[in-house]
Amino acid sequence: MPVRFYNTLSQSLEEFKPLREKHAGMYTCGPTVYDFAHIGNFRAFVFEDLLRRFLECCGYHVQHVMNLTDVDDKTIAGALREKKTLAEYTAQYAQAFNDDLKTLNCLTPTSQPCATEKIQLMLDLIKTLLEKGFAYESKGSVYYRVSKFQGYGKLSKKNLEMNRTGASERVEADEYESKQEATDFVLWKGVKAGEAQIGAAWDSPWGQGRPGWHIECSAMSMQELGERFDLHAGGEDLIFPHHENEIAQSEGATGKSPFVKYWLHCKFLLVDGEKMSKSKGNFYTLRDLLAKDCDPMALRYALLAVHYRSALNFTLEGVKEAGEIIRKFDECYWLCLNRKVLPLHTPELAHLPAGIAPLLEKNKAEILEGLSDDLNVSLALSRLVLAVKEINTRLAENRLGPDSLQAALEFFKWVDALLGLNICGTQEIPGAILALMDKRSEVRKQVAADKSNKALWTESDKLRDEIQAQGWIVKDARPGEPSTLKMKRRKWD
Ligand code: AMP
Ligand code: ZN
Repeated sequence: MPVRFYNTLSQSLEEFKPLREKHAGMYTCGPTVYDFAHIGNFRAFVFEDLLRRFLECCGYHVQHVMNLTDVDDKTIAGALREKKTLAEYTAQYAQAFNDDLKTLNCLTPTSQPCATEKIQLMLDLIKTLLEKGFAYESKGSVYYRVSKFQGYGKLSKKNLEMNRTGASERVEADEYESKQEATDFVLWKGVKAGEAQIGAAWDSPWGQGRPGWHIECSAMSMQELGERFDLHAGGEDLIFPHHENEIAQSEGATGKSPFVKYWLHCKFLLVDGEKMSKSKGNFYTLRDLLAKDCDPMALRYALLAVHYRSALNFTLEGVKEAGEIIRKFDECYWLCLNRKVLPLHTPELAHLPAGIAPLLEKNKAEILEGLSDDLNVSLALSRLVLAVKEINTRLAENRLGPDSLQAALEFFKWVDALLGLNICGTQEIPGAILALMDKRSEVRKQVAADKSNKALWTESDKLRDEIQAQGWIVKDARPGEPSTLKMKRRKWD
């Protein structure tokens, strides 16, 4: 089954043909660790995680490199403000970011290089660019000469004239003073007051200083994935200037093109039609939402459920609705897992119809088919919902034999590997709870026979409270019929 992605470079859907068969080298721009990441950032990281999981499900070995930007204007400003070294200041946010990635069930990158640990790589790359005439030194800083690179603008479709006015959000005013052209961008920044004291300056042939943001990603991606690699992803704001500049740096230095075969960018997470961002103040961190008792898997589902190339308007209501959907998946899995110990209210069919396995295999194929089409997640999720409906119907009618139950459990395991929703995180009913349920069943039988016996009622209530105190919800049927349990709420924190 061919896999197609929308490549920002060609602005069209292209069949994914990696450089090495069944191997995918993927670089995703990581966060700047100056603060907690907001959930807009996590839209990008969850999209990238889906991309990786999907390729792995298709049998690719994915080498996933994600950098951490631990030196830039914001990290330096934070360290100076808190009177910490740069390393101390960024370590706390790097740790928080990785904790958040785990909470959202994103796979750990194969490698996560930090910019400050790879300074020599960047110096070497800058030296090559100087030798080849793509860079020049000015007042202790080094700049990239954009006009020298023929292909500049091929990713963002901006021409040099447009760039002269556009420039970058992240360009500081004082950079303009020493640049030859407004379009040039910094590769190495000469040191400023206070930076050396907090460990934010390194020696270089041009004096003390620190790398620019763009050179980081060129240097670190090429070191791990080679001068040319398969996939590079990020949010749409990275297309220009960051990724455009990465191409100029890498292709300028190596003379090899294309630096990256497929560029994938996700659209923004919006709040009331505006990009969620720190500067607008319209953001939630993951921690803000956890404090509101939000299930991180509901957030993950909400972030995943809209195609990555469509803007996603964030609402708390949307996350709540997502929570209801995945609760249904959880419950279905849980019922299959605990089928053998839960009382039946419908007689088991004497002859079980055909097993569910072939149908679930068909669903799996359709889910993959959807995702193969530029990660068409709506199609994939609709097939998942259909499968869950079918399993539920058969469960209710007692039409699932042991093989079918096993097939359903395996189906959910497969879905978890693909979508990372941790559906299989729900648990079997512990033996101690089952024993209490049995005991209570006996008492309820006696209650049915002797309704006026208050002591029996009290005993039954006491047992129910004991079970519920341990987090399980008891659902009583009509008197005399066996009670059942409802799934414990997913414990995620
Ligand atoms: P930063 O830490 O600013 O470099 O951003 C980390 C990642 O989050 C990048 O891939 C950005 O493109 C992405 N990003 C930032 N804001 C949003 C947003 N509102 N929606 C989606 N992605 C975003
Ligand atoms: Zn980057």
